[in-house]
Amino acid sequence: MTTVIDRIGLLVTNDPAVGAGTAELRDAAVFIDDGTIVWIGDAGRAPHADERIDARGGCVIPGFVDSHSHLMFAGDRADEFEFRMAGRPYTAGGIRRTVGLTRAATDDELRANAQRLRAEMRAQGTTTVEIKSGYGLTIDDESRALRIAREITPETTYLGAHVVPAEFADDPAGYVDLVTGAMLDAAAPHARWIDVFCETGAFDVDQARAILTAGQAVGLGARVHAGQLGESAGVQLAVELGAASVDHCTFLSDADVDALAHSSTVATLLPGVEFSTRQPYPNARRLLDAGATVALACDCNPGSSFTSSMAFCIAVAVRDMGMTPAEALWAATAGGAAALQRTDIGRIAVGARADLVVLDAPSYVHFAYRPGVPIVKRVLAA
Ligand SMILES: [Zn+2]
Repeated sequence: MTTVIDRIGLLVTNDPAVGAGTAELRDAAVFIDDGTIVWIGDAGRAPHADERIDARGGCVIPGFVDSHSHLMFAGDRADEFEFRMAGRPYTAGGIRRTVGLTRAATDDELRANAQRLRAEMRAQGTTTVEIKSGYGLTIDDESRALRIAREITPETTYLGAHVVPAEFADDPAGYVDLVTGAMLDAAAPHARWIDVFCETGAFDVDQARAILTAGQAVGLGARVHAGQLGESAGVQLAVELGAASVDHCTFLSDADVDALAHSSTVATLLPGVEFSTRQPYPNARRLLDAGATVALACDCNPGSSFTSSMAFCIAVAVRDMGMTPAEALWAATAGGAAALQRTDIGRIAVGARADLVVLDAPSYVHFAYRPGVPIVKRVLAA
């Protein structure tokens, strides 16, 4: 099966061989063979294909790579959001409420909820999603969440260290032993990554180190939640352990920024969280000016950020985080790919996966210029 997308007014390649950053081409066409991009050239010059898509002068971008989500849950916490908007602050404790609902759900309920959200993301242009466990917090509940997540994506993350569950409230060290022992053994076959919520009210830096190194020892890649509620030693721990990404990065010291800029660890910013918790937004400009690699992701979860819209994150990043539209788009595509250490996604180049989004707009600037407007016209995913 071959497909050509022709009459592309503006093609975002993110291909370093073409240029820096978004590396854009004008009046282009893309030829796809069996899910792989095999030719890129001038509009009207593509070989004949089984299917022809006319972009009508619109913009084509790589599919969004949402490198941070928590889709394995049950229930709804709209009431907490409503209270927060009335002035009550966010704390990590609300996670335990979702844990109770998730444990009580059947496999089919968890699967259906995650698949519904995955479809919602796809319709908005997200072609790759990472999914974390973390609302089970028992051996069986964490491994089943990862097993079901694996049906949806290869980018699955074991987050047994999301919060200490109520039954271990008096024995957090015992819970860390479980997370690094029998629970890890049960989770690892279904996971590519291990993550820890390194934050006040969750896990401290010593616990985080023990958890991440245990995961690395069985072949999982490291990711870290840090810097959401205040400056955290978790940022430099992520760099020290060679984590693929450290996520939130809302509060960073100068030393944190410097460490990120001189590492391969991606700083993943999650502006849906600040929107939904009324916290200050992270300063993307500071990270970019220092030379750090920045990604944007939704952190889709029922507590602190229940959005599945990468377009929304881009709009906020441009409006309030100091990013140009091109930097925000790059962060939501190539940046997400970097955060997942993937080279086959997040760019439109010969040999890459044919994950592309056709916009009903002449430019991706419209994600921020026309916030909330559904400009995604067609999504192709290999
Ligand atoms: Zn998260």
